[in-house]
Amino acid sequence: MAYSRFPFTSGFWTAHVSRVAWWILLFCSAVAFAQDAPIALRGILVTPDGIVPHGTVLIENGKIAAAGAQISLPAGVKSIDTHGIIAPGLIDLHNHLTWNVFPRWKPVEEFGNRYDWQQKPVYKVLMDAPHHALLAEGLECEMEWFAEVKAVSEGETSVVGGTKEDCGKRLARNLDYDPRLGKTGAGPVVYDVFPFQMTTDEAKSANDALNAHGTLLIHVAEGAPRDASAARELPMLKSRGLLRKGVSIIHGVALKPEDFGEMAASGVGFIWSPRSNLELYGGTADVAAAKAAHVHMVLAPDWSPTGSDGALAELQYAAAWNAAQPHPIFSDRELVEMATSGAAALVGLEHSIGSVAPGDAADLLVLRPHGADAGKDAYWSVTHSNAEDVELVLIGGKMVYGDAALTGQIGGDAMDRVEICDVEKSVLPPSIPDKSASMRTLQAGLDTALREWGRRLAPLPECGQ
Ligand SMILES: [Zn+2]
Repeated sequence: MAYSRFPFTSGFWTAHVSRVAWWILLFCSAVAFAQDAPIALRGILVTPDGIVPHGTVLIENGKIAAAGAQISLPAGVKSIDTHGIIAPGLIDLHNHLTWNVFPRWKPVEEFGNRYDWQQKPVYKVLMDAPHHALLAEGLECEMEWFAEVKAVSEGETSVVGGTKEDCGKRLARNLDYDPRLGKTGAGPVVYDVFPFQMTTDEAKSANDALNAHGTLLIHVAEGAPRDASAARELPMLKSRGLLRKGVSIIHGVALKPEDFGEMAASGVGFIWSPRSNLELYGGTADVAAAKAAHVHMVLAPDWSPTGSDGALAELQYAAAWNAAQPHPIFSDRELVEMATSGAAALVGLEHSIGSVAPGDAADLLVLRPHGADAGKDAYWSVTHSNAEDVELVLIGGKMVYGDAALTGQIGGDAMDRVEICDVEKSVLPPSIPDKSASMRTLQAGLDTALREWGRRLAPLPECGQ
């Protein structure tokens, strides 16, 4: 073949381009197929219909294709025995993620309401000023990624209360930012910490969301049970026309039984965060009255400086609080559903997440079982588990976190390593555009920035607390 500057005749192009294109196509579908290759997990299933002691979950294309005791698997499907409890991923409807870089804050006093501690110099020095400084340094995405690793290490697959910055692909499913669930029929989730400071525009978009079958999650009546200012927030909410279906109140510590009656009648939901309440205000909401009024009630951790490190720890805290009541208010099953299917329903996503059921996104949590020898059931095991017991977390069928023993069997993207309660776990590496690609570097960077303020980066999570 004569060599000329343009040996590439059209015949040559069509032949070679189509061959290259074909190879690219094959490679992409293989990767896609590898990630979407059906996989089956075996274990003790926590399903909407109850516990399945020896069950299997079949995952296809990021969704649960089948779940139960007797399901047939397509030929060649990898089937893994987890020897664990396979539960829905936990759904966290109350958090302030970028603040979870701070270790536990132990105030020396109990406060009347949130406006009290927010104007305290100690809060400014320990939390507010360093938080703003790290944001100003452009570390918001690192703070978010760190907090989302903390969340998945606590069994969470969906969160709210994160940054609205564009940080590239997130680790967890951010329901109030980018749920990644496609068409669900539910409207947007709006999360507002200071509803009485909403601008006219914010109030309008909140109402637009509610009119579009969306949800508005707002902090209301946060304070001590008998704090007058906190209690006054419910009539203030009513006067703004926000005591309506789709609205859910977070905290509600100062609410009275008749308030819960009014909420139930108006279709207003409730998000309970007992640990943060007790640590800041010395008391928590009247959940017995909320339950008696049939308010749609769910459980969530709040930020980790005064709340639990995540939903799993808050479940454990709520179970301990419940057991300490003269008459326990909740069963373990109810508590688990308050952090899974009940939370999904509160934001209109009951057909998309929150259950080990066909059609749901494969957002799954595998836990090391406990208590069977003492006759305890899987619900008890879930409400009495620690972060060390989290063996695997899948979001949309994709492995994001777990014990190397299990993540190694599933395969998929390269994983990073983190230390959780002296146990090494695998986690997806940070994917913040143009930023550190390892968890160790990310943590070191945040710790250095916090040292400037005499603070240290919180551990992931604080074990034994
Ligand atoms: Zn909060």
